[in-house]
Amino acid sequence: EEELPPLGHVLVTGGSGFLGNHIVKLLSGRKACSKLTVLDLQSPANPVSGVDYQNGDLTDYDAMLPLFQKLRPDAVVHTASPNHFNRSKEMMYKVNVDGTRVMVRVAQESGVKAFVYTSSASVIHDTKSDLINADETYPLIMGKNQPEYYSNTKAEAELHVLASNRTAEHPKFLTAALRPSAMFGEGDVQLLPPGLSAYFKGQTKIQIGTNENLFDFTEITNVAHAHHLCLAALLTTRDREDKGGAKPLDHEKVDGE
Ligand code: NAD
Repeated sequence: EEELPPLGHVLVTGGSGFLGNHIVKLLSGRKACSKLTVLDLQSPANPVSGVDYQNGDLTDYDAMLPLFQKLRPDAVVHTASPNHFNRSKEMMYKVNVDGTRVMVRVAQESGVKAFVYTSSASVIHDTKSDLINADETYPLIMGKNQPEYYSNTKAEAELHVLASNRTAEHPKFLTAALRPSAMFGEGDVQLLPPGLSAYFKGQTKIQIGTNENLFDFTEITNVAHAHHLCLAALLTTRDREDKGGAKPLDHEKVDGE
């Protein structure tokens, strides 16, 4: 395990959910932060000791700004997204698009240094074409080209998060987005359990396609580790720049520079 720099105070949105809880467990177990806060609508099934759990709705700017100004996190990991049992289009747009805008805004206005967004691999998928060895150079599939509203909301949110990196108004605010593929592991309620349950009930008569499709799955602690690496990279960059060291890379220059 590589040496990573201390992260300061990290706030994890959706920290009571599947991925958020794993990120919190991993950062806490590695003693990576001086303080860990979770912001979530619900309390966790298995709270991690020493973590400050804050119940709140991230779409509510008027409640979020004073909370962030009081807590003053150094970094935000934004994993929250509507629960898979409540995936109405309206709710997806409200939380993923409008809610992410609220999170970015309150983070900027309360002096957060680094903001990591959990996007999704589905933002570059049009649901029809094969993606082979796809990487971050692939374009986002959005609007009328994107048949899945979930993916569209993730793409819109990601675009906003990345456009908020080093803006003219907040030139030191650093952002990044990670695009996990389907995640499995301890605490999963949506990927393997329904498949296994269908198998154990003998509901295996129907096959869609030729059974030759390949799909990427990622073990959840690897996704949590990626978030740790991303936080460390952003905070190290910011720290170096605060100390008068490295300048922004050319492609990262502030608007109009
Ligand atoms: P999850 O449903 O287990 O957790 C999401 C958490 O967000 C929940 O605890 C929920 O209460 C919280 N939340 C929802 N609305 C909120 C609000 N308005 N205010 C505060 N908290 C709110 O989801 P997950 O499977 O852990 O997914 C985490 C992230 O990863 C999501 O952004 C999702 O889009 C992304 N993702 C998931 C997968 C996957 O396979 N599960 C794959 C790729 C990307």
